[in-house]
Amino acid sequence: MRKDYHTHTFRCQHAIGDVIDYAASATKQGFQVIGSSDHTPFPDGRWNTVRMGLNELDNYIAAIEEAKTAYPELIILKGLECEYSKESHNFFQEELLGKYQFDYLISGPHHFLYNGKWTGAHSYIKSKEELYAYTKQLIESMASGLFAFVAHPDLFGSSYELWDENAISCSKQILEAAVEYQIPLEINANGFRKPLIETPQGKRPPYPLYPFWELAAEYDLHVVVNSDAHHPENIGDIKEAVDLVKRYHLQLADLSYLEEKYLKP
Ligand SMILES: [Zn+2]
Ligand SMILES: [Zn+2]
Repeated sequence: MRKDYHTHTFRCQHAIGDVIDYAASATKQGFQVIGSSDHTPFPDGRWNTVRMGLNELDNYIAAIEEAKTAYPELIILKGLECEYSKESHNFFQEELLGKYQFDYLISGPHHFLYNGKWTGAHSYIKSKEELYAYTKQLIESMASGLFAFVAHPDLFGSSYELWDENAISCSKQILEAAVEYQIPLEINANGFRKPLIETPQGKRPPYPLYPFWELAAEYDLHVVVNSDAHHPENIGDIKEAVDLVKRYHLQLADLSYLEEKYLKP
């Protein structure tokens, strides 16, 4: 079964196409399951340049329903990728999972609290302190029980350049938490599509981080490979991530419980 649980739509303002375009691409490539998991809106409108507004949520859900009707053979899950914090817990639980009946939520650690300020993980993890704050926020999301898996847990690599004792220590904390909370970690193929970054230890993708996943192999945890497609053609463009799984003999997660209710008897 070919599955991809991480795709976006134009609503996030940095992706192209609607659910139906991703469904078309997935169908063409022989996928059986895709999850639409655009960046969540927030009731307070935070970070609104890279996500839909709350007033677009109904339209997003309608677009998922429309794609389901157009591609009845494809299972299309209704998801969102969410930045966790305690103050958003109720919104995610009561509104998104409760009232709106989302099939699943992804923890997407793009922002973390540092010295009382929200800080961007893509660009602003330069110090040890920032790296530890990122790690703390990420582990809180895992402990919340709200999420089906964690997107790109090694996203810190896009701004924290070195694989050093701090990176190792934080990675171990993340991996231990994945075991403790039994939550799969995503190997995010979108990182491989980004320009390589120059570091004192050589050129590498911003994420996934090979040493992170090499370390992950020492833990009894599960991984999921997704395209994190921001363009319909990104679906299925996951070769390097699949190779990484094989290289370190990582265990793939079974997320089929998410689509169980849609399986035809
Ligand atoms: Zn995005
Ligand atoms: Zn994403």
